[in-house]
Amino acid sequence: MILGVLMSLAGVWGLLLLAYRRPLRARWREPVLKQPVLILEGDDWGAGPLVQAAALERLRLLLLRHRDGSGQPAIMTLGVVLEVADTQAMARQPGSYVGMDLHAPEYAPLRAVMEAGSRDGVFALQLHGQCHYWPNSLMTVAGRPEVAAWLHGPPHPRTEDLPSPLQSRWTDAGQLPSREIPASEVAQAVAQEARLYRDLFGQAPRVAVPMTFVWNDAVEAAWARAGVRCVVTPGRRYTRREADGAPGGVDKVISNGQRAQGDMVYVVRDCYFEPALGHAAGHLAAAVLRKWRERRPCLVEMHRFNFLDDAVLESRLQILDHALREVSGLLPNLRFLATEALADDIVRRDAAWIDRAFAGRLRAWLVRIRELPRFRKLCLLTGLALPFALLERTL
Ligand SMILES: [Zn+2]
Repeated sequence: MILGVLMSLAGVWGLLLLAYRRPLRARWREPVLKQPVLILEGDDWGAGPLVQAAALERLRLLLLRHRDGSGQPAIMTLGVVLEVADTQAMARQPGSYVGMDLHAPEYAPLRAVMEAGSRDGVFALQLHGQCHYWPNSLMTVAGRPEVAAWLHGPPHPRTEDLPSPLQSRWTDAGQLPSREIPASEVAQAVAQEARLYRDLFGQAPRVAVPMTFVWNDAVEAAWARAGVRCVVTPGRRYTRREADGAPGGVDKVISNGQRAQGDMVYVVRDCYFEPALGHAAGHLAAAVLRKWRERRPCLVEMHRFNFLDDAVLESRLQILDHALREVSGLLPNLRFLATEALADDIVRRDAAWIDRAFAGRLRAWLVRIRELPRFRKLCLLTGLALPFALLERTL
């Protein structure tokens, strides 16, 4: 009788593990970190409002004040936007798109602070894209009042003010649902922006951050050809904008260390620290602690829009300063790392950073599988949670 119950229980557990084999296997394969890692990922810096140079200089000085146990200052990656509409030139040539890129003399102070921060080891430049839209899509809807106001407004406009779907670069959101851009046009555009990035910063882009996280295989293949080695993702790949404008068409669920096209590697950025959206200092600490429990790196999205308004710049900087102090106090062995370096460590399975021992991997896996809410409930219902808990205690 007891044997029968045990056997049927084992059968149920087996079926449960079989049903969830994909997410369970993905969590097992994912690299296990030996030390907590924090990477602030700053998106959208570059073409646009000229106040960015002063804001970035303040951030450079702030980051320099925070060092990890190895002496490395805090790092913020800069997902760089290389170009924005030249509204004055477009006023002279109605109907055609004209861009102004970071070579323009007015961007010299911004480029200088980006370079200074890179030399100091507090900024790490990444490719966000040539412009934060697909120019043809923008021009298709140039007559719409909100787009016309943006195109005919002041110079160096903020792309954050464009309707959200238009801010995607790698799908044609000139109509909704958006349409796929022909692969040949994507290839040409990526080659062009990679060339521009190299001209501006003296090296090929190594890390790409897809704008609004909408991209596809054609984009990845072109990035790989351009020298990109790592793609930053939110843990899934969106491929289009839906009829309501929201990102959709998810065709991939992504884990850290998973391979992308052309042998590039994906990393997952699914933590957020946006003081402009009400995140207080403790929000960052909570994210870093959670990721460390899972033995995952903490990549934190933090857009430039937090730091563009002079009236609140000081208070936003204070929140970040406070947050970094709090995190370092809670985790004295915290390490600051650039995304490119993290990707290299993952690919090399560097023993200084990646735990390859069975017990360490199993411990991390047992924590990670708790993030599957239905699986967790079914484990409790069927009693599979018990052997997992016993296993965790023995490790
Ligand atoms: Zn962006």
